[in-house]
Amino acid sequence: MIDLTELSIQGLQEELASDRARPTDVVGSYLEKIERRDGAVKAFLEVFGSEAMERAAALEKEGRRDRPLYGVPVAVKDNICTRGFPTTCASRILENYRPPYNATVVERLLDAGAVVIGKTNLDEFAMGSSTENSAYAVTRNPWNLECAPGGSSGGSAAAVAARLAPVALGSDTGGSIRQPAAFCGVVGLKGTYGRVSRYGLVAFASSLDQIGPITRTVEDCAAVMEAIAGHDPHDATSIPGPPPALARESVGDISDLRVAMPSRLGEWDLESSVREATEGAFEALREADIRPETVDLPDVDASIACYYVLANAEASSNLARYDGVKYGLRVPSDSLGAMYERTRGIGFGEEVKRRILLGTYVLSSGYYEAYYAKAQQVKAKICDEFARIFELHDLILLPTAPTPAFRIGEKVDDPIAMYLSDIFTTPANIAGLPAISIPAGISGEGLPVGLQLIAGAGGEAALLRGARFLERVLRFNERFALDAGPLEGGA
Ligand code: GLN
Repeated sequence: MIDLTELSIQGLQEELASDRARPTDVVGSYLEKIERRDGAVKAFLEVFGSEAMERAAALEKEGRRDRPLYGVPVAVKDNICTRGFPTTCASRILENYRPPYNATVVERLLDAGAVVIGKTNLDEFAMGSSTENSAYAVTRNPWNLECAPGGSSGGSAAAVAARLAPVALGSDTGGSIRQPAAFCGVVGLKGTYGRVSRYGLVAFASSLDQIGPITRTVEDCAAVMEAIAGHDPHDATSIPGPPPALARESVGDISDLRVAMPSRLGEWDLESSVREATEGAFEALREADIRPETVDLPDVDASIACYYVLANAEASSNLARYDGVKYGLRVPSDSLGAMYERTRGIGFGEEVKRRILLGTYVLSSGYYEAYYAKAQQVKAKICDEFARIFELHDLILLPTAPTPAFRIGEKVDDPIAMYLSDIFTTPANIAGLPAISIPAGISGEGLPVGLQLIAGAGGEAALLRGARFLERVLRFNERFALDAGPLEGGA
């Protein structure tokens, strides 16, 4: 029998439609692979084994096979609420928290026929770029178990790369879908701000956060995005109107697309494999008679500084709710004040505390003008500059991260070095633009290299069309196979 865990959504649906496989076979194959491999990868914080099998059996009884994600297993980042199941944000402070409701994206996945198979690891409250800030586990990169999977959606990206799920949801505040997708050799998409409902996503920085899919192919990514996107009355920032029909609109040739390349590409400090992959993609475009034009991007150094002021300011406010009273951990003490202090002192990890301190500082009355207000001005400038670029262009092609995956432990004690791995991803969050990372090549050490496309607001269809073109010509999945040996405990 064919290995169901190697199939794309499209492939799974062909098997299911022709009765060669049932949802219980699909879910069973994935659960068995998780059992064999996740001891080495540690992508999951929680696997819903029996519940997922029950749901698959119920789907079989119901029929309704025409649903877009019928029988498709999905792993969900553990900062997205799942009713009755742990949602910890990889934080001690939410250790036993079980939300009484599902996030809108989870409801939409279920409506589309999907099966949630578990919750994936992340940096605590999605703060980080390596998943090392989790209070519970260190996730490993399936391409090299000594390396980090990226972050903060490292568990989701590693799960998809290691074939532990065909689809995973991540969240992206400053790059947390795209950077781990790049590090793990998979596809990751963040939509236009407001495209996907944030209802039930535990807030990190509300003006930047977006949920999005991580998949093996761009086609799968379009199908999942279409299923989860669309207006939600529970989220006041959600874009009104129906979502674009992405599965259909992302197909087609790209001769009408005007692609831009950053003028400072030559000056950026990129690892050689990242530079080669980027140049290779521009070459492929030229061969297809698409002539990339050079544009001046908003300054990436200013973007990253601006991001870390705004994101931390919002985080300090959003995380004020974890006080030991409403939910999660409570460390009993003599007085109310002491209870707050001890709960937060014990419940939050170091990086989260660092950000609460920084965020509180930039919002304090003495420094507000110098930092927070200034960052808002920089944000406005970045938005204007992008708007001008997208008057004349449809897509910008640039690296996702300056390097491939780094080693576990390499940056964990150097927050600034860690923050710099988001240098190319934060601009799209600041301007609320859709952006995707696709695998494009492999480094000398055998690690995947990702490339990023950014589109104008609402430009998901063009973005996915461009990504499908590059995926086809760069042929990552055909050229590079993940060596499952180390994952299976063999050579
Ligand atoms: N790595 C970035 C940070 O630490 C982005 C995180 C994210 O997108 N959630 O803030």
